[in-house]
Amino acid sequence: MKIAIEELAGCSGCTIAVLDLHEMLLDVVAEADIVYSPVIMDVKEPPEGIDIAFVTGAVRNEENRERLEMIRKRSKTLVALGTCACYGGVSGLSMLSSNEDLFSYVYREAETTKPDGVIPTDVPPFLYRAFAVGDLVKIDYYVTGCPPKEAFLKQIIPAMIAGDTLELSRKSVCSECDRKMGAVENWTLKRRHEGVPDREHCLLGQGYLCLGSVTFGRCGASCPKNNVPCHGCNGPSLDILREPCRDIYGMMVRRISDLTDKPQKEVEKELYDVAHTMYAFTIGSLIMEDKENSKIRDLVKERSR
Ligand code: SF4
Ligand code: SF4
Ligand code: SF4
Repeated sequence: MKIAIEELAGCSGCTIAVLDLHEMLLDVVAEADIVYSPVIMDVKEPPEGIDIAFVTGAVRNEENRERLEMIRKRSKTLVALGTCACYGGVSGLSMLSSNEDLFSYVYREAETTKPDGVIPTDVPPFLYRAFAVGDLVKIDYYVTGCPPKEAFLKQIIPAMIAGDTLELSRKSVCSECDRKMGAVENWTLKRRHEGVPDREHCLLGQGYLCLGSVTFGRCGASCPKNNVPCHGCNGPSLDILREPCRDIYGMMVRRISDLTDKPQKEVEKELYDVAHTMYAFTIGSLIMEDKENSKIRDLVKERSR
């Protein structure tokens, strides 16, 4: 069994999550050879004949696309690992800026930039947008999470290597959360830094924008359990994925309206920075953009030149 992990436009956190299997890695390498991973080893290209390749990161430039096509050709099973690969992830947020602004920030303005201010000409050119890997090639399995949680990887990686099938939860984050709804009175939307939420009741009911109801689970609702609203890092819930007319923004507006008895138009006025609060992990996904009532098209048009 030969395994590979490819890196595209991401932060390598998904590969680090695999390394976080710790001692279980010994069981993995007893059954399979890791033959290629730019983060773990110095092998420049994936070899032919890979059994399972994990690809992390979105597709944002020409090099990402070439590497994705190569790993697809050289592997029997291709797994999108992490939300960047599955839905564009945070790399997709780059679509909110022009290419010129992105380069200028990275090569001139960021605090860690060398002060010569020269934008190099030999970096791979951007594609016209970000893509999830499944927008461009056939993907056999999707493993969401930014990064996928250790307990989830411990379930699926040995099963994949052994060729076993698994029954996995298909529910949303809310279904894994043990908070009670409680009374919803004088509801106003709060920013995350405002106040301290009580630990017992639903964060959305308290006015914090918790995306648990529109987000795929399998993380054990780890953020709400630590008193932090879910910001949707596992990508959309299964009902949103399946139904072309369901979208994150519309579903959240409806849920808040039902919860608070405010008309949907009133709720919409309270929402802020929809790109970052609702679509931070999915803005680069064609599946999400192509939905008939998706806000993504307008957000990208508004913010980019
Ligand atoms: S999904 Fe998250 S952890 Fe994985 S590469 Fe993207 S940003 Fe990094
Ligand atoms: S909205 Fe958030 S806090 Fe409320 S039940 Fe769902 S996951 Fe828990
Ligand atoms: S609760 Fe939400 S943001 Fe936190 S890990 Fe789960 S899906 Fe990601």
